[in-house]
Amino acid sequence: MKLSNFKVPFISFFSFALIGLIAWFFRDIRYFALFLGMGSMEFGVRTLVIKFPQHRQLFRLIVQTMVGGFLLFYLSIVIGVNFQYPQIIFDTAEGIVTGALIQTIVARVLLPFVLGNAFCSRACWTGLFFELTNTKSCKKIFKRNNYIAWGYLIAVTIAAIILIRMLINPATDESLRRAFIIGENIYIVAVGFMLTFFLGSRAYCRLLCPFLTISGLIAPWSYFKVRTVKKDACISCSKCNNSCPMLIDVKEYAEKNMAINHRQCILCERCVSACPIEVIKVDSKRNTKQ
Ligand code: SF4
Ligand code: SF4
Ligand code: SF4
Repeated sequence: MKLSNFKVPFISFFSFALIGLIAWFFRDIRYFALFLGMGSMEFGVRTLVIKFPQHRQLFRLIVQTMVGGFLLFYLSIVIGVNFQYPQIIFDTAEGIVTGALIQTIVARVLLPFVLGNAFCSRACWTGLFFELTNTKSCKKIFKRNNYIAWGYLIAVTIAAIILIRMLINPATDESLRRAFIIGENIYIVAVGFMLTFFLGSRAYCRLLCPFLTISGLIAPWSYFKVRTVKKDACISCSKCNNSCPMLIDVKEYAEKNMAINHRQCILCERCVSACPIEVIKVDSKRNTKQ
């Protein structure tokens, strides 16, 4: 087997290790251990996929369950770290740095330069719930609108500021912070399921999620992305389009021999698994049109 086949696993692992070192420098060694663990899992799974590509989605969902479950049940519910977006505003008002800001810097600003929005398909626990809603059965597909996405981010920010000004800051109140952790996660999953029912697959992710709004700015410049690796080979079967939970027109990119530079691609590789002739895959090669 060629060494170049291992480029994705190795670079993914070293990216996580590097981020862990930076987090260790600014916080403590537990962050290094956390990111090293994530990087090792990513390395293991991406290596297994080289040998067993037919199980790509199973391996990915196992990683997402383990990482997402750890972040939600241990770090959030047991330890009391709130990773959701409003917590960044709460913490900023108090001049402190906790998991929400670290998650945003790591998963939404640094990692997207290497692996795009891959956090969404490999670690996000609400995303794991939304895996259950990957369906095209909804008739009324509502496409992303940047005004709505940025408007929602600004609205959540203003609501958080009003809460701090008028009532109390959950960053300073342990029991309130825990109530927010539970409440925000239930809210996102409930709203996500409801929106999906009316507006199509993974509607919360596509239309509203503030994290994707942020990381989507960087994702098109990701080093790794889904690329068309067999020139003029696409047979326009649309299997990739039918498999994409983010409703991206993958076929159009493949027909033009392009990389998928879409801001909302979460690098789940469902399109890669669906393609019958392996026209597309996650790669770093710059021999495709950008
Ligand atoms: S878009 Fe938001 S909710 Fe959806 S998977 Fe990504 S981070 Fe999670
Ligand atoms: S384009 Fe492919 S990798 Fe990106 S979100 Fe759609 S199915 Fe997943
Ligand atoms: S599944 Fe493959 S062959 Fe079919 S349209 Fe998509 S890229 Fe082309």
